Amino acid sequence: MNTHDFDLIVIGGGSGGVRAARMAAQRGARVALAEMQGSDGLGGTCVNVGCVPKKLYSYAAHYAEAFEESHGFGWEGPAPVLNWAALKANRAREISRLNLIYGNLLTSVGVTVFDAFARLDGPHAVMLKVNGESAERRLTAKHILIATGGRPHVPDIEGREHVIDSNAIFDLEPFPQRLLVVGGGYIACEFASIFNGLGAKVTQLYRGEQVLRGFDDEIRHFVSKEMVKAGVDLRLGVEVAAITRTAEGLQVKLRDGGEVMADAVLYATGRVPLVQGLGLEAAGVAVGKEGAVIVDECYQTSVSSIHAVGDVTNRVQLTPVALGEAMVVVDQLFGPAAGKAARSMSYEFIPTAVFTHPSIGTVGHSEEQARKMFGDVTIFRSEFKALKHTLSGSAERTLMKLVVQTATDRVVGLHMVGAEAGEIVQGFAVAMKAGATKALFDSTIGIHPTVAEEFVTMREPVPSPPTT
Ligand code: FAD
Ligand code: NDP
Repeated sequence: MNTHDFDLIVIGGGSGGVRAARMAAQRGARVALAEMQGSDGLGGTCVNVGCVPKKLYSYAAHYAEAFEESHGFGWEGPAPVLNWAALKANRAREISRLNLIYGNLLTSVGVTVFDAFARLDGPHAVMLKVNGESAERRLTAKHILIATGGRPHVPDIEGREHVIDSNAIFDLEPFPQRLLVVGGGYIACEFASIFNGLGAKVTQLYRGEQVLRGFDDEIRHFVSKEMVKAGVDLRLGVEVAAITRTAEGLQVKLRDGGEVMADAVLYATGRVPLVQGLGLEAAGVAVGKEGAVIVDECYQTSVSSIHAVGDVTNRVQLTPVALGEAMVVVDQLFGPAAGKAARSMSYEFIPTAVFTHPSIGTVGHSEEQARKMFGDVTIFRSEFKALKHTLSGSAERTLMKLVVQTATDRVVGLHMVGAEAGEIVQGFAVAMKAGATKALFDSTIGIHPTVAEEFVTMREPVPSPPTT
C-alpha cells in the first residue's frame, strides 16, 4: 500500500530536476516536480539564463568577425548591423519553445508538475506555495530530491544597486555601448567576448594575475592574449572601489585610483547554492560553505530519504554533471533501465568548454596539476594560425596542448584554444577516459585539413624545464 502521495518529489525543474523526474517516472515511479518559476522556468538556469541563451548570443557575436573575414574570401559589401531587439526576441522565442518541450517531456511520462515554491517539512514532506493559491499544500513522498541549483553572487560593494548579474544581461535594454565586466571566471570571460563581438566596447576587470584560475596556465595566458587582440580591454590585478550613477553613465572607481565609465556593469563573480527558504535546517539536512547541501557519494544528504544533485551541492557546476548525477540517483532509488546496469558517475576527465572568442576546450589535468600528481610529464604543444585565417585577415591563433604522464605514456591532459574547441575536445574526452596513450594518439590517422588533426600529429615534445 502506498503510504505517501508520491514516490519522489523533485524540488527544482532545472537540468538535474527535470532529468531525475522524467527518468523516475519512466521507471514507473509516481513523481511530482515543483518549479517556482512555473512552466516558464522549466529547464532551469541552463535553458533560461545559462548555456542555451549564452551560446545563441555567442553565435550572434561570431557573425561580426565572419562578415569581416568574408572579404578575404571574395565577399563584398558593407557589414550588416546588429538588431539587438531582434536577437533578444528570437532568443526568447526559442527559450519558450524549449520550456514547452520540457513541460511536455514531464507530463507525457506522468510527472505531476506544480508551479510552486517548495520547502521541506520533514524527511518525507514538502510544503508547496502554488502560484495563485493563498494556502500552502502539503505533499508527502518516500524520497525527495533537492535540485534547486544556484544563483549569481554579487559581493557587497559600494554602488551594488547599479550592477547587473548574468540573469539580467540577456534582456538588457538598451544595448550597452560600453560594458564593464567584473570577474575572471567562465561567465565573465564568455560575456566579455560575446559583447565585444556584438559591438560593445568591453572592459573586463579581474582581481588576480590571470583569468580562469584552475585552467592550464598556458591556456589562460593564451586565451587572455587572444581576447585582448579581439578587442576586450582586459585589466588584471584590478578591483572596484565604488560605482556611482552620473549623467554620463556609470562611473566605476577602481582601488588603484583609476576610473572606467560604462553603460552597464556586469558582475560575474561566482554562483552560490539556491537554498533560501528551503527549510534545510529544520529538516535536518546538513549544509556546508555558502549553504551547499552536503551529499555522500550516492547523493544522499544527512537525511536518508533526501537526496541532492547539481549546483545546489556546489561541486562541479555544469549541466552534464547535474544530468549525470540525476541519472545515478534514479538508478539507485528506482533501479536501472531495463537491460542496463546501474549508472555511476566519475568526476575524472570531465570535459568542459569556455565559449570565449576563441573558445577553450579542455579535458583532464592542467600541466601544473599533472606535474604535482605524476612528477614526470611530457608536454606536446602546437601553436599556429588556422588555415582559414590565411585568407580571412584575422590574426587569431590556435593553441593545442597534450600533457602525457611519462611513466605510463597515458594522455592525462588535453587542452586547446581555438575555433570550435568544445566540439573538438568532446570526442577526445572519450579516448582520454578509455586511458588512451600518446602512442595510440600517434597511431590515429588525422582528418585533413582540420585543426583537430593536430592532436594526433604532434611528435616533438616541449623540452622539459630544468630540474633543481
Ligand atoms: P538549475 O538548472 O539552476 O535548476 C534549478 C531550478 O530550481 C530553477 O529552475 C529554480 O527556479 C528552481 N528552484 C529553486 N529553488 C526552488 C524552490 N524552493 N522551489 C521550486 N523551485 C525551485 N553549464 C554547462 O555545462 N555549459 C555551459 O555552457 C554553461 N553556461 C552557463 C552560462 C551561464 C550564464 C550560467 C549562469 C550557467 C551556465 N552553466 C553552463 C551552468 C549550468 O547552467 C548549471 O550547472 C546547471 O543549470 C545546473 O543545473 P541544476 O539542475 O543543478 O540547477
Ligand atoms: P567562476 O567561479 O567560474 O568565477 C568567478 C570569478 O569571480 C573568479 O574569477 C573569481 O576570482 C571572481 N570573484 C569571486 N569573488 C569576487 C569578488 N568578491 N570580487 C571580485 N572578483 C571575484 O564563476 P562564474 O560566475 O563565472 O560561473 C559559475 C559557474 O557556472 C562556473 O564555475 C561554471 O561551473 C558554470 N559555468 C559554466 C560555463 C560553461 O560550461 N561554458 C559557462 C558559465 C558558467 P578568483 O578566481 O580570484 O576567485
